[in-house]
Amino acid sequence: MTKRIIVLTTGGTIAMAEGENRGVLPRDPSALQETLPLLKRYADTRMEHLFNKPSPHITPGDMHAIAVEVKRQLDLGMDGVVITHGTDTLEETAYFLDLVIDSEKPVVVTGAMRSQNELGSDGPYNLVNAVRTAAHDQARGKGTLVVFNDEVHQAKTVTKTHTSNVATFQSPGLGPLGLITKKDIIFYREVTRDRPFPLEMPRANVALVKTAAGMDGSLIEWAVRSGVDGLVIEGLGQGNLPPAMLPAIRTAIDKGIPVVMVSRCYNGFVQDTYGYEGGGRHLRETGVIFSNGINGQKARIKLMLALNVTRDPEVLRSWFDM
Ligand code: ASP
Repeated sequence: MTKRIIVLTTGGTIAMAEGENRGVLPRDPSALQETLPLLKRYADTRMEHLFNKPSPHITPGDMHAIAVEVKRQLDLGMDGVVITHGTDTLEETAYFLDLVIDSEKPVVVTGAMRSQNELGSDGPYNLVNAVRTAAHDQARGKGTLVVFNDEVHQAKTVTKTHTSNVATFQSPGLGPLGLITKKDIIFYREVTRDRPFPLEMPRANVALVKTAAGMDGSLIEWAVRSGVDGLVIEGLGQGNLPPAMLPAIRTAIDKGIPVVMVSRCYNGFVQDTYGYEGGGRHLRETGVIFSNGINGQKARIKLMLALNVTRDPEVLRSWFDM
């Protein structure tokens, strides 16, 4: 049976063109409708334009608006939804959708690294592959997927790894979930999904702080003073910090601000290995919550959604620990 797929456009390079001496700029999003005859070869496809933003302009509120529309379309009977999005923050929107869309139906996010009038523009090709994926039986039950450059990635694991290469989206340490060939899509790995969160506007203000050698706690102190609701720290190695950051971490935890630790390494786990001052064991004893399987920007999205539900540190820990 022909699948019904809706494409929701939100902007990004896929909806842009290069102007003479003016840089790459958004175009009228209806230009994307030129791809519809191609898309209709693979599914009964419609297209709606939600907004037309470069993805550095996308906010958690926009992610919520996209999710509400995705849910509405699925409830209306669509078999799958494709979202076109700028690549810079695509992984955050994709993970937001993964956490709040509690459906077996495929939700697929795609975009382009080259604008519509650039040589080798990858937008139409990615869009066709995204529709093919959304219409594929085996894409069901895998949560939100990201389709780029002949590969299917899980929203949870994918990250933008290159500023300009069309093969920018990778899942470090794991690789893609599936490969797109001319004839079919081959899925060769199972997914583990996070618990779903209620589809609510993320209200919490969560700061993301990257750690470097010799840093002190002044950025964290400033964040606490300015009323932040949660902190995500991209720590060193297996989840360690320079000792000068510790007093500020303790202050945050004492004030009931959850502190979630991920690693600035893009492979491997954070764990309580080291017992020295600022080592993972020491931090865990201080009350830091360790998170695995997601990078800093995604831990921030998850903490925002989690803080809509609870501030209880033990419940939060159970949602982040793997
Ligand atoms: N800066 C653009 C954006 O994220 C990049 C892209 O779409 O590829 O909107």
